[in-house]
Amino acid sequence: MDPWTENPKFPKGFEIDRVDAICVSHGHFDHIHDAVPLAKKFSPEVVAIFEACVWLESKGVQNTRPMNKGGSQQVAGVTVTMTHAVHSCGILDEGKIIYGGEAAGYVLRFADGRALYFAGDTNVFSDMQLIEQLYHPELAIVPIGDLYTMSPHEAAAACKLLRPAKVIPMHFGTFPALTGTPEQLREKLAHSQTEVWALEPGKTVKW
Ligand SMILES: [Zn+2]
Repeated sequence: MDPWTENPKFPKGFEIDRVDAICVSHGHFDHIHDAVPLAKKFSPEVVAIFEACVWLESKGVQNTRPMNKGGSQQVAGVTVTMTHAVHSCGILDEGKIIYGGEAAGYVLRFADGRALYFAGDTNVFSDMQLIEQLYHPELAIVPIGDLYTMSPHEAAAACKLLRPAKVIPMHFGTFPALTGTPEQLREKLAHSQTEVWALEPGKTVKW
């Protein structure tokens, strides 16, 4: 999901040795640009909104799987559904911003029936309750960094709409400006059914 290996928090010396599929939520550089070298190296299927797929193809990416919101498709054994996100989506290309479609999120449904919601970059929006009704995500991955996405305040409201058993916070701490922390989200969800599951870069976990 949204690979960014040039991320300052990317663990030093960590080697990616296999990529089956990539889902890109929107065209900002910290979400789409590293998909190009990874796709060229590993030839995964690459999912994105239609316009972003056309840009990826123009950069030499093969096996794109374009789609749009509300649609679903099978990718690497997973049912991938594209959802709404409240964010922008211009692609930076040689100093200019190119139209990249719209920002999106994804619901991934696995063979054992579990569903995961990856919000992408977004603010909270009330239609997240439709995502809960339609897919019942057991795990949600939501941004909390503030400034370019929602902060823990809005992310806690998102969790109350989505009602996942666990939430993984993302898009925080990369730069000093992304100030939201998992602890702040945990405080705001103290009396909810959702447990905050904070990941550490480079450490593998099992769900
Ligand atoms: Zn963004």
